[in-house]
Amino acid sequence: MSEDPRPDTPERPLPNTEEEWRAFLDEEAYEILRRKGTERAFTGRYWNEKRRGLYRCRGCGAPLFRSDTKYDSGSGWPSFWAPVDPAVVETEVDTSHFMVRTEVHCARCGGHLGHVFPDGPEPTGLRYCVNSAALELEPEDGAEDGDGEAGADD
Ligand SMILES: [Zn+2]
Repeated sequence: MSEDPRPDTPERPLPNTEEEWRAFLDEEAYEILRRKGTERAFTGRYWNEKRRGLYRCRGCGAPLFRSDTKYDSGSGWPSFWAPVDPAVVETEVDTSHFMVRTEVHCARCGGHLGHVFPDGPEPTGLRYCVNSAALELEPEDGAEDGDGEAGADD
């Protein structure tokens, strides 16, 4: 009775404590969003996702990326060359694992998304390398009809 069923509405109040986050997110999403974990390459549900739509933050529902900025980077993680708006994500320097990388997280809830690298395609030259478990795809109207596999594939 007290819990929201899905994180679809950006207006949804955010959990206040780690306890609440843990109850709200599944184990994998919690590990990534709240503990800066990383899913294994080629295992997430969106790395090879081709449907059109809007990728929202799994933690708070904020719109983060659109399918038309998603591209196949070959990395095994969903990759985008730009967020929907520069203000929806924030970055910070991450020196873990003996590397200097740029960590990227949701500007609204602080949830860890992945990293951004300077080897992406034009026009930005950036690659936002994001964990599937940090995202929730909202397919465009009609995009989820027809079971996906039925159409001609050329
Ligand atoms: Zn968020």
